[in-house]
Amino acid sequence: MSNEDMRSRILDLEREARRLEPGRAMRDQWNAAVKQYADQFLDAIDDAPGYEYDPDEGKGIEAWLPAEEGRPLEQVLGALEAHVDHSGINPASGGHLGYIPGGGVFPSALGDYLAAVTNRYAGIYFANPGAVRMENMMLRWLCRLVGYPDGALGNLTSGGSVANLIGIVTARDDRGVTSAEVPRSVIYLSAQVHHSVHKAIRIAGLAEAPVRYVPLDAHYRLDAAALAQMVEADKQAGLRPFLVIASAGTTDTGAMDPLDAIADVAEAHDMWLHVDAAYGGFFILLDELRDRFKGLERSHSLAIDPHKGLFLPYGVGAVLVRDVQALMKSHFYRANYMQDALEHANQLSPADLSPELTKHFRGLRFWLPLQLYGLAPFRAALAEKRALALYFHREVQRLGFAVGPEPDLSVVIYRYVPEQGDANEFNRRLAQYVQRDGRVFISSTTIDGTVWLRLACLSFRTHLKHIDTLLEVLQAGVQALTAASPASHT
Ligand SMILES: *Cc1c(COP(=O)(O)O)cnc(C)c1O
Repeated sequence: MSNEDMRSRILDLEREARRLEPGRAMRDQWNAAVKQYADQFLDAIDDAPGYEYDPDEGKGIEAWLPAEEGRPLEQVLGALEAHVDHSGINPASGGHLGYIPGGGVFPSALGDYLAAVTNRYAGIYFANPGAVRMENMMLRWLCRLVGYPDGALGNLTSGGSVANLIGIVTARDDRGVTSAEVPRSVIYLSAQVHHSVHKAIRIAGLAEAPVRYVPLDAHYRLDAAALAQMVEADKQAGLRPFLVIASAGTTDTGAMDPLDAIADVAEAHDMWLHVDAAYGGFFILLDELRDRFKGLERSHSLAIDPHKGLFLPYGVGAVLVRDVQALMKSHFYRANYMQDALEHANQLSPADLSPELTKHFRGLRFWLPLQLYGLAPFRAALAEKRALALYFHREVQRLGFAVGPEPDLSVVIYRYVPEQGDANEFNRRLAQYVQRDGRVFISSTTIDGTVWLRLACLSFRTHLKHIDTLLEVLQAGVQALTAASPASHT
């Protein structure tokens, strides 16, 4: 091919490839359509159902495979609306009271938009010092919030599961748990620990480590005295206790493990203490709850989820590690092609502190809302969620429900015990009744064979009216289910 032909072929390709840069007019049109979609969604959000039953289960989206030619945005948004945004749980709704809800404060969407438009490289300090400084600053802010000393740092992860994984891998390496050591290296946790911890233990190559389930007290909190006894017994048996995992807010019941007493045991036996604060961590912002977090500052690592307790949209959790050197030891790397980056390493880079290299610039969606709102409304919203949980705990008893312990944070477990028939079955059907009604969404759980309904109150959009609606639907549900069941006496 002649030089001329080659150039002309490249220019042909360029003309086609340049369609990837839409130009101002197209951008205006797309921006307007997306803004309209978002406005329509948000204008209706205050009364949006917590659950939408979709008999189609979103199947229609499968007709929208990528094709050779593009489609108009209006059509594409139509597909999103028809097949995705009205299917199943609506986590953006204040009526989402089921799983630990996310929320999705609006400025995070703007942060994501800008992060995607500018596409800064937040993985390595050399590549974008400002972006990495922003993320490290937010992590240091979290470290101060939980009482970690200077020298602590962490990583903004995709969520709590990866944060737990990073914490557990770091503990494994810091304590020298090589594969030969795994079968005698003991891990302690409670039966109420989040399942992501079990997953992390397996992924971290610790599946063959002995795992001890520490008994719970009547509040479903880990019993620190029982922990101490188990550790002693294991040591006497020649095993090597190395890791305790506590929860600052369990998912099932919202229980706060006694962190200070657990830290005492960990310290006495030189064990790594990891705290899963993915759900509960940000309640430390409330003066009224600070005491409950005493001991968190003594942990070696912890997981905390801004996409839960700070109401950000899904996609940002954090792991914090008291001694950043330990985190580095498990996650640093050397690559020849990145030698330029190493010479500029004034600040630690996320890529040295996590399994990721190229990553979403998560810091921006986290930093922006806090800049615009300040902390005060976040504190108020957290205090409101806790007050709503306490209110619900009291009011649901008035309706004749049995309840679990008064909530440590903002999760309440409760159940209706009918005069006759199987109570577990009744509560399962009651959960379905609430789900079919759809205005609010709740979940259920089984603890020691007993089915409980759960209120998980953590959406920034959940207010008194949603809790009152739930109480109303529960009352109607109990009436409907009681009337439906034959009142047979034998
Ligand atoms: C939600 C949750 C997790 C998992 O976090 P993801 O962000 O969903 O990955 C871990 N632990 C607890 C206690 C949680 O509530």
